[in-house]
Amino acid sequence: MSEKLHATATLFICPICQETFSAQEKRFVCPQEHSFDMAKQGYINLLRNAKKDKHYDKRSFEERHQILESGFYDHILEAVAQLGLSETKNQVILDVACGEGYYARQLAQMDKNTVLAFDLSKDSITLAAKKDKDKDVAWFVGDLAKLPLADHSVDLILDIFSPANYQEFKRVLKPGGKIIKVVTASQHVTELRQAALEQLQTKNYSNAKIISHFSQAFPHYRSNHVSQSFPATIDILKSFAQMTPLFFHVNLEKIDWKNIDQITIAADILVADYHD
Ligand SMILES: [Zn+2]
Repeated sequence: MSEKLHATATLFICPICQETFSAQEKRFVCPQEHSFDMAKQGYINLLRNAKKDKHYDKRSFEERHQILESGFYDHILEAVAQLGLSETKNQVILDVACGEGYYARQLAQMDKNTVLAFDLSKDSITLAAKKDKDKDVAWFVGDLAKLPLADHSVDLILDIFSPANYQEFKRVLKPGGKIIKVVTASQHVTELRQAALEQLQTKNYSNAKIISHFSQAFPHYRSNHVSQSFPATIDILKSFAQMTPLFFHVNLEKIDWKNIDQITIAADILVADYHD
């Protein structure tokens, strides 16, 4: 059983009646007696009608896990930690659509903050929670469009390569809280894109629309660019191709791998303060 999850029960609201939960031994229960069991892997499913994830693929989860654990995204993790963590106060951090859960696990180990992380996919959360050996993170299955969290309960929202719902984000953020959104930059995996250029439907990737959408919700944002290139073997390059949606339709057999020996991981990190 996850003590972390148990301790955070009062930050959550019941997805049926929106009243605040309290934690009993192995479940969250609201005043109307709606009850949700904590899973033994250390997460709670707060989705009323959890659908089976048709596109879920355990192999691509493990692929992503290996790449993340190998450090290819550590410069992004470090930038997020530097921009988001506070030296003076303990924060409630929410990792939105966390998928494999790498950032949540890493940030939970860095200091005494309370880290909540969720995804729509129960399969992802089950595996993400399993990788969290010390049960540092409060994991849950939930819907981005209807977060099962109390109004103004979160200090910091992390939206890392994930979709967003700014109306919900503003509802759950505390006044004086902060949002960090990480968006793929145009030079991201540029080596792979050059090699597969003939097969790509989108020849030039731009994040302008995503940034414009963010700026409408948070006009006074700051932007930070991070980029790092790493030596990469063919196996690593293939893993990147398999985890990047842009390449899902690409025939990897047709790529001339021997001319590529590195990979660039680049992102724009948008930061905004939230005031009522
Ligand atoms: Zn209820």
